[in-house]
Amino acid sequence: MSGLSLPKIAGIKLSVHWTFSILIIWIIYTNMRAGLDAGQIGWSVLFILSLFVCVTLHELGHALAARHYGIQTKDITLYPIGGVARLERMPERPAQELVVALAGPLVNIIIMFLLLPVILGHNFEMQENEKALIIGPANFLPMLGVINVWLALFNLIPAFPMDGGRVLRALLSFKMNRVKATSIAMNVGKVLAIGFVFLGFYTNPFLIFIGLFIILGAQSEYEMVKSQFLLSNLKVTDALMTQFSALDEEDSIQDAVRQLLDSESKILSSLQEEFPWLSLPVMISSGPSVKMGWRVL
Ligand SMILES: [Zn+2]
Repeated sequence: MSGLSLPKIAGIKLSVHWTFSILIIWIIYTNMRAGLDAGQIGWSVLFILSLFVCVTLHELGHALAARHYGIQTKDITLYPIGGVARLERMPERPAQELVVALAGPLVNIIIMFLLLPVILGHNFEMQENEKALIIGPANFLPMLGVINVWLALFNLIPAFPMDGGRVLRALLSFKMNRVKATSIAMNVGKVLAIGFVFLGFYTNPFLIFIGLFIILGAQSEYEMVKSQFLLSNLKVTDALMTQFSALDEEDSIQDAVRQLLDSESKILSSLQEEFPWLSLPVMISSGPSVKMGWRVL
């Protein structure tokens, strides 16, 4: 049970994670506790769904920017704490990463500008309830516009691997190597994430989940970048075995074992699995030659 598949958008698989239903139930529950009627709760649910349409467009912004650089997106999944576009890889050029990271929040800013006339024409002091914000036909679009500003700003907080953190890493990558840049961005992200968790205890519990998501995501992405970097700097010669024992054709397996064991401690001293053997010289009509081969232990 992973989620609900939606129709593809721009050739990208789109799905809603099953935990998303918890968000809807939570909205209905808190609205009922605040004494809202069925119609008002219906508007609240519709508002959350519209908000997640904006989140999907935000993720599509990342995906299409990445596609521009030849990077495909495996899928986009919607979770209660936001959307995740799984790019097949992250662009390694700082300028490209900067564009891909900014493309998401840019979509929210565009939506806000499209809704600007209704935002400016709305009086936000009306329809306030002590326990819950009442969404209705009058404030639906203005609120959606405002929440898009919030979405853009929240995502730009430099908490790697959130968009703002990726912007920070890209900017640092202009000056230093990618591992160092990721390490700094990860540490800034972790400090901010701890702040989110604490704030979440006093305000919105979703911040706790977002904080944990950042801490785990930042660490695993750092490990990935580090191993990629280490591998990219290795040459074949770095992986070659340069010290090894040789065996004669007449040597027994016992001789091989003896070579592998440390003479004093009798502990395995080598990870060598194959032995070169030489037999010198073999007379062939054209003259002496060297016969070489590998004997697998
Ligand atoms: Zn984003």
